[in-house]
Amino acid sequence: MKYDVENRRIWLKGEILNVNDAKINVLSPTSQFGLNVFEGIPCYWNDNEHQLYAFRLDDHYNRLLRSAKLLQLDCTYTKEDFTNAFIDVIKANEYDENLSVRQTLFVDGFGSWGSEGPVEMFVAPIPRGRTSAEYNKKGLNCCVTSWRRISDETLSPRIKCGANYINSRVGQREALRNGYDTCLFLNEFGKVSEGPGSCFFMIKDETIITPQLTDSVLESITRDTVIKLAISLGYEVVERSIDRTELYTCDEAFLCGSAMEITPVLSIDKYIVGDGNTGCITKRIHMMYLDVVQGKNEQFKYWLTAIY
Ligand code: PMP
Repeated sequence: MKYDVENRRIWLKGEILNVNDAKINVLSPTSQFGLNVFEGIPCYWNDNEHQLYAFRLDDHYNRLLRSAKLLQLDCTYTKEDFTNAFIDVIKANEYDENLSVRQTLFVDGFGSWGSEGPVEMFVAPIPRGRTSAEYNKKGLNCCVTSWRRISDETLSPRIKCGANYINSRVGQREALRNGYDTCLFLNEFGKVSEGPGSCFFMIKDETIITPQLTDSVLESITRDTVIKLAISLGYEVVERSIDRTELYTCDEAFLCGSAMEITPVLSIDKYIVGDGNTGCITKRIHMMYLDVVQGKNEQFKYWLTAIY
């Protein structure tokens, strides 16, 4: 690797710059109000093929455009622009390791929280080991946070915007304060929604269960991947509302997301999940997921975009 992480190169407004030279206006709506939408796009290095693969790039860009549309951002960048910037900046860093690539559309200029633009973009690859602590753990002890997940009637969790993560933050901070690794949120109706940066699955009697997309969850790409992989393995997958007490009696549970991958949940509110170890079905799906994202599974290789 040519550039250490403190000197990595990022794409900003059409230029590739040293991260320390990439500056934004402190008075911009993104700076003042978190007025931005973004994606965290995972890339995996395949050593045998000497290739870096981006996972479900088109699906990430479709979600980015949906988020921009819902916030009425006046985005002039196209999907082709997204892809070119993404590939150029990874190549500029000569990365040959697993990455999470932050691709953000933000409202620049001197407007306010009501402004539609000017919409600008940055693309910043982050080597995977440098993401948040809870994303790098082997198993998680969770609590149900006392804070509710944002709802479609207030701030839709369907929109992947910076401001929504303040709701994630209060739940995560409460979890850490009380000695847990992370939290699960209930939605406005008291049903299980998701983690602060991940989706939730539980397994009961070999059935894989996850909250519906209308239960206040992000339209997660990993969630969709897990559902498709589980079905291909022959499991029954059910998308339905989950009661809090169901969490305490499930056989297996895991959180999933582009950064978290598939991370087992070992306890919830100190109720042990299963026997307190990673469950068999969770392990099976996790292994398959890792093969798929690295390009080691031919059936799902159509989800990958080769960078080099
Ligand atoms: N829910 C929330 C709140 C998230 O921030 C994330 C991470 N983007 C996810 C779920 C998982 O989404 P994805 O699988 O698309 O990364």
